[in-house]
Amino acid sequence: MGEEAVSKNFIEQEIDKDLAEGVYTEVCTRFPPEPNGYLHIGHAKSIILNSGLAEKYHGTFHLRFDDTNPTKEDMEFVESIKADVEWLGADFKDHLYFASDYFEVMYECAVKLIKKGKAFVCDLSPEEIREYRGTLKEPGKNSPYRGRSVEENLKLFEEMKNGVYKDGEKVLRAKIDMASPNINMRDPVIYRVAHMSHHNTGDKWCIYPMYDFAHPIEDAVEKITHSICTLEFEDHRPLYDWVVKECEFDPAPRQIEFAKLYLTNVVTGKRYIKKLVEDGIVDGWDDPRLVSIAALRRRGFTPESLRMFVELCGVSKAQGSVDYAMLEYCIREDLKMKRPRMMAVLDPIKLVIDNYPEDETEWLEAENNLENEALGKRKLPFCRELYIEREDFMIEPPKKYFRLFPGNEVRLMQAYFVKCVSYETDDEGNVTVVHCTYDPETKSGSGFAGRKVKGTIHWVAAPYAKKAEVRLYGNLIDEEKGVYNEEDGSMNINSNSLEVRKNCYVEPNFADAKPYDSFQFVRNGYFCIDAKDSKPDAMVFNRIVSLKSSFRLPK
Ligand code: ATP
Ligand code: MG
Repeated sequence: MGEEAVSKNFIEQEIDKDLAEGVYTEVCTRFPPEPNGYLHIGHAKSIILNSGLAEKYHGTFHLRFDDTNPTKEDMEFVESIKADVEWLGADFKDHLYFASDYFEVMYECAVKLIKKGKAFVCDLSPEEIREYRGTLKEPGKNSPYRGRSVEENLKLFEEMKNGVYKDGEKVLRAKIDMASPNINMRDPVIYRVAHMSHHNTGDKWCIYPMYDFAHPIEDAVEKITHSICTLEFEDHRPLYDWVVKECEFDPAPRQIEFAKLYLTNVVTGKRYIKKLVEDGIVDGWDDPRLVSIAALRRRGFTPESLRMFVELCGVSKAQGSVDYAMLEYCIREDLKMKRPRMMAVLDPIKLVIDNYPEDETEWLEAENNLENEALGKRKLPFCRELYIEREDFMIEPPKKYFRLFPGNEVRLMQAYFVKCVSYETDDEGNVTVVHCTYDPETKSGSGFAGRKVKGTIHWVAAPYAKKAEVRLYGNLIDEEKGVYNEEDGSMNINSNSLEVRKNCYVEPNFADAKPYDSFQFVRNGYFCIDAKDSKPDAMVFNRIVSLKSSFRLPK
């Protein structure tokens, strides 16, 4: 029991308290994206956190599009966001909402505030409003329109709604306190005039609510209990509470803030990703080097790995930045037992077994994953001509090189011992063929005739191998310099973040592979089938992550 209490994050502790004190009887959370861009790893944290809390407390999770701002929204984003949230495993089946469906309620709330003498129509220009607002050190000044009567305010607000005024000519403001130390409380604007079409409500409205007024109402209407958001909204919480209270919602939702997730040396800002796409530095929003959810999926990350990542990051009030290596750790952990370990040669040279019969093929039985028998076995063809990695042969090896070199014997994974007897080179001295002999007594599983060798290398059978393209990724950002160039705000791009290998060979057992399927390629890492470019007869693999890392879990 003690242990459970320790492992709870601060939000869970607050929820426990609220439930114990009877403030709420059940838990309802939400993820409220603006449909103005693609979701990224930071949003994934918010989705996993909010849907996870609903699950843990047997409550409800809502996906709500915060589409109250008609300028920036796009239906294309609604679909991509839904797909991303679903893929992450957050269940919003019966709970998909659009904030624009509440425009009527918001309008009524505004009228209620006017009637209570808590809101007024103001004719100051945006510049004047800014001037009157004061600064952090000085209080603001009351607007000359603050004293308007309830009747006049009701009439003017209705006229605003009926399209009598031009954009910016009048606004509705909450009447709170121009001397408040919190600038957000200095009679904030809650409605503006904007003659714009909205993707959902069309031309019905020419007044639109401001975020700080709309958001608490959206939460309250949906009976959200814990409205979890990021730290920059901490200063807005008094206004959030004011709106809920003055609009007389009961029970009142409660806002709790946590620190945003940042990854070191990784671009997450919409504006910056957009620039990378426009400049052709990446191949769209789902380029596997990006950390949009679509990109992570295309790279081969799984929902389980992202959940593990979010869990490891924890929830906190302290701003910090997490290493990308932790994300890599999570995908390795997730795939290690789940995925088959296949043979693929990324930089091939030919190996010929001189004493192996020319027309013979043996079908060896190979375990798919030595650590997980449940994944079964597969047949692996073995014959006289193979491909091996170029770096697994050296003419003149340095000390401690245990792979192939003239006179040395190695084990071919899942097959036999072979000994290098000679090699061929082209005119420039590049090795083209390695010649070996094999020992039939050393077949895998037979006890290797009592012999031992120090090196084991992987291979594919040349006549059966499938040619494939493999894409190896590095950080898009020059890690020496950091993401942003201080001088001009541009990004420090690493020009070697993508290496395309077009002449790789993979074993023939990929016939049923589908887009996004992932595999371990022994010794080379984890790879997944590229969902955009791979075709059954011309496969393309993305390297998700290499096998080894110096990363250690933080204690
Ligand atoms: P914008 O700059 O357009 O507001 P945004 O990333 O804040 O972009 P929203 O659609 O407003 O996008 O975000 C939806 C939700 O995701 C919000 O509740 C926000 O707090 C949360 N969120 C956004 N970025 C992060 C992040 N890096 N870490 C955790 N949560 C985040
Ligand atoms: Mg936002």
